[in-house]
Amino acid sequence: MKQNINIIIMGPQGSGKGTQARMLAKKFDLQIFETGDVLRNIAKQDTEIGRKINEIINVKGNIVPWDFMKEKILGQKLSELDENKGIIFDGTPRILEEAEFWEKKLKEVNRKINYIFYVDISKEESVKRLSVRKLCKKNGHPLIIGKDLGEEDTKCPICGSEVYRREDDTPEKILKRLEWSKKLLSPVLEYYEGKNMLIKIDGEQGVEDVFGEIVGYVK
Ligand SMILES: [Zn+2]
Repeated sequence: MKQNINIIIMGPQGSGKGTQARMLAKKFDLQIFETGDVLRNIAKQDTEIGRKINEIINVKGNIVPWDFMKEKILGQKLSELDENKGIIFDGTPRILEEAEFWEKKLKEVNRKINYIFYVDISKEESVKRLSVRKLCKKNGHPLIIGKDLGEEDTKCPICGSEVYRREDDTPEKILKRLEWSKKLLSPVLEYYEGKNMLIKIDGEQGVEDVFGEIVGYVK
């Protein structure tokens, strides 16, 4: 059996981890598992679960409860992926239960995580980048103005759909969101650190430099 590479990439909002995930997927022929993407796709389906997810994330703007998330969303999506290809997990785990879930779940399908990267940027840098961020309408790709697209650009460079600015991307609200996700993520980081698996990457370098550093670890 071919040995697959499975990678987790984490980082605060604005760290550019999504961009890195896409670059890694291309270089190592990996499938991207991005929770936000998974949810948005389910929300488009006219099924019982699709309507429920749509109600939670698009209508109410809430977070999908963890109990519902694990088997019905994450477990289901995992079972749909190509078992002969490696996976890059982008934006999951976000909480400790999720890290533990993946450990158990991946073992069941004979996969293991080979590398865990945390692309770190300071709070100030995060706020700075998110304040100049746009998202695309179709897939929610986060795009940094001046980096991923020009100030005047109206189309997403990844999927071609229209881009917009989030109304709650004000410095104050960004800071609040950052603090909240950091609080949830810190036990996850400690968990992987305790297993000697966490590789920290300086995300304030240029995109190519961040990529070069990550690739340097992947054997
Ligand atoms: Zn897009």
